[in-house]
Amino acid sequence: MLELPEVLTLSKQLNEHVAGRTIEAVFLPTKPHKFCFFEPEPALFEKQIGGARIERAEGFGIYAEMIFDNGKRLSVDDGINLRLLTDDEVPKDYQLRLALSDGRNLVFTVSMYGGINVHEEGYFNKYYIASRESVSPFSDGFDALFAGRFAEARPNLSAKAFLATEQRFPGIGNGCLQDILFAARIHPKRKVVTLSEDERAGLLTTIKEVLGEMTRLAGRDTEKDLFGNPGGYRTVMSKNTVLSPCAVCGSTVVKESYMGGSVYYCSGCQKMVE
Ligand SMILES: [Zn+2]
Repeated sequence: MLELPEVLTLSKQLNEHVAGRTIEAVFLPTKPHKFCFFEPEPALFEKQIGGARIERAEGFGIYAEMIFDNGKRLSVDDGINLRLLTDDEVPKDYQLRLALSDGRNLVFTVSMYGGINVHEEGYFNKYYIASRESVSPFSDGFDALFAGRFAEARPNLSAKAFLATEQRFPGIGNGCLQDILFAARIHPKRKVVTLSEDERAGLLTTIKEVLGEMTRLAGRDTEKDLFGNPGGYRTVMSKNTVLSPCAVCGSTVVKESYMGGSVYYCSGCQKMVE
């Protein structure tokens, strides 16, 4: 799933390689996917964005969005795979294909579930609004947001839940949080109320540093970009490193199921504190 570093990478690539092109044709899903959600129904896309010119793209939270010269916007959420392909490269099955004026295609597929939406500014969807209104970890306002979220934390809230649930920090999900918590030396299941002042400050710093590094390197190596290439950031705690030794202390990288997903952590560096 895309998280903030990948969404920012995708929007940057769309600005560099797709902005200025016009939508020549809209191709509907070749094989409907039960968990690909469209708004409105894709049959209406042609009327809304057919012939429109892509002016620019933006990335925020878990969304990447293209903005057209007719005021329409096309946004995709974190579950959509968006690729820029030649006609020869277009797969047989896709959820949406936009033929561009430069002869290439934007092709949308979904792995588990995802949403493709065409709308105007001010789209009303709770996840979209949370992402749109989110405070970027790279902006000045993030420290105050982080402090506020901490002040609201319930006693039983774990570090993983704090970072990745309830839309507290749209764009930080179950991928990025693993490396953030490793860098902060915090166990994913540790209750945030047990963190010392120094550990809280350290977590705030590592959120900015790790997301910054992931973004600078065009996303994580567990995700792919507009061209299908994996990101340049090598994940430290992920499916790619499980059971290998921790680079810092040599302990084994552990994978456990937790809160409807997996957590990866170093049992040496990230001690559980009750
Ligand atoms: Zn370690």
